[in-house]
Amino acid sequence: MLTPLEQRVLAHLNDAQIVAWVQQLTQIPSVWKPELGTGEEPAARWVEARCTEMGLDTHFEFVAPGRPNVIARLRAPQPPTATLMFEGHTDVVTEGDPAKWTDPPFSATIRDGRIYGRGANDMKAGVVCALAATKAIVDSGVTLMGDILLGIVCDEEGHMIGIKNFVDRGWAAGVSACIVCEPEENHLCIAQKGVMWVQATITGVMSHGAMPLTGVNTAYPMARFLSLAHALEEREIARHGRHEFLGQPSITPTILQSPIPGAGEAQKNVMPSATTCTLDIRLIPGQDPDWLAAQLEKMLAAACATDPRLSYQCEVVEVRHPTATDRNHPLVATLGAAYTDLTGQPPIYGGVPGSTDGTILNARAGIPIVTCGPGDIYIPHHIDEWVSIDEIKTSVRTYVLAALRFLGVRE
Ligand SMILES: [Zn+2]
Repeated sequence: MLTPLEQRVLAHLNDAQIVAWVQQLTQIPSVWKPELGTGEEPAARWVEARCTEMGLDTHFEFVAPGRPNVIARLRAPQPPTATLMFEGHTDVVTEGDPAKWTDPPFSATIRDGRIYGRGANDMKAGVVCALAATKAIVDSGVTLMGDILLGIVCDEEGHMIGIKNFVDRGWAAGVSACIVCEPEENHLCIAQKGVMWVQATITGVMSHGAMPLTGVNTAYPMARFLSLAHALEEREIARHGRHEFLGQPSITPTILQSPIPGAGEAQKNVMPSATTCTLDIRLIPGQDPDWLAAQLEKMLAAACATDPRLSYQCEVVEVRHPTATDRNHPLVATLGAAYTDLTGQPPIYGGVPGSTDGTILNARAGIPIVTCGPGDIYIPHHIDEWVSIDEIKTSVRTYVLAALRFLGVRE
């Protein structure tokens, strides 16, 4: 049931303007391609302008040259009871070959109730919903008991330097919970897989393929290591099982190279001096990345134990922890009730197979996150990317109710 006050705030939403905003932001091609002079800055300036127009306390901070974060706060007049963050990113992935698109990739063409364009789904629409929800609350004149914090950052699609910098500069302090506005068809995604990239390198001695005993081969030790890693994967699956939303954990060798990059051409009659393998490890809640890294290091040592001339290196290139937020967390409950009040349907819970900026917020700042926003789950990064206008309308309304109910309103 919506209260009269909630109905009054929702009446301040202007759907035509929201659609126009999604089009405007999608039309800014914010692919990070410094060699072509494109990046997030114009899109971030557009976001900054909307925040300034509605009177938010707005900050524009460069994380790296040409790569800004926009941080804006709607302040409660009293010390805030809580702070609700809305998170989004301004970067989009490459459009690929524009000739493969039905419409120009940054046209934001409207057809059949959808807005088409690179980034429309991932995640210009989500960013606009966070902005528009905040604007409706501002325009309605209601006074929230807590703060809304908008963190619209750069580089989610790369190394997530935007959100890492956001945490490093202290912006996450005091945030009670965060809605990550990524495209999830308005499902409440309360778990996210983690990822860990490990590069294992084994070094031996190069030799002529006809006289292998004059060198030390590294392919067989790598094969032993990969067999051990595969067995570790099976043990982890047996130990942690299938997560309700994320499925089972995995350890996948993705890049296997011998000779290693920079060590010359591969030749049929040359036994290379080193072999390297990248493992793409996907984690579900309950797995411990540090423990896994230690296991892999031990396995490399065991695989190289056959010859004292073998050496190894085990480098953890990146760790993004898995996340899980309790279904009974107040933000999850609030979003679920809001969704039901708006649609008449029960909320659909889910999980995110990859990591998002929310992973960093959760792992580095302990912030409970829910990933929930407009846009088909499978369409990000595709040719002819699109977002449903109906989903946008539901998302923005859900965000308004979530903010009013989670933060509370001073009567
Ligand atoms: Zn995204």
